[in-house]
Amino acid sequence: METADKNLIFLSLGSNIAPRQQYVSKSIHLLKENFPDRFSVSSLYLTEPFQNQPQQAYINCAVRCQTHLQPEEVLDVITEIEHRVGRKRNGVKWESRIIDIDILLWGVEFIELPRLTIPHYDLPNRDFFLIPLLELDNALVYPGSGLALSDLLGKIPHSLRTHPVRIAADDQAVPSTY
Ligand code: ADP
Ligand code: MG
Repeated sequence: METADKNLIFLSLGSNIAPRQQYVSKSIHLLKENFPDRFSVSSLYLTEPFQNQPQQAYINCAVRCQTHLQPEEVLDVITEIEHRVGRKRNGVKWESRIIDIDILLWGVEFIELPRLTIPHYDLPNRDFFLIPLLELDNALVYPGSGLALSDLLGKIPHSLRTHPVRIAADDQAVPSTY
């Protein structure tokens, strides 16, 4: 990794409560305000709920940026953005959400803190993480192993796939369910 790539981080955004696209757009806007350096954003993708949860479909995307903050400070910023966009947590795992912002990668580092595990613990199993990430940088590798994320994507079993479909940013006609 180049020195210039230090603290280059990749985030995932997801929403499955209407108006999903507005929640995602507002979150992207706030992320860009907070992390303007080397900011880029993938296309939006329409995905089925992970593991066939009986839920509305999601909109997902990935964001890349560079920061001088510490990992827990970044977590605090994204939690504040989730809150500003309207997320209320009631502690139920995998519940429908207005917005979820997760930190997927922090360069090639492993970070293990009480509130934070990076890479995200389920990165290799989630096509709705990997496909937008690969759109931003198709040479990304998994820290440590050096395995190409594109190879990990090919290994995801059918039962876990969410079939991401790229949508135009202004597409209002996307279905809310499958
Ligand atoms: P989930 O993302 O699993 O649907 P939440 O968004 O409510 O659920 O996150 C629960 C907790 O996960 C957060 O409060 C945060 O401390 C923790 N967490 C651990 N690793 C990460 C990560 N890589 N990115 C974001 N949150 C993380
Ligand atoms: Mg989260």
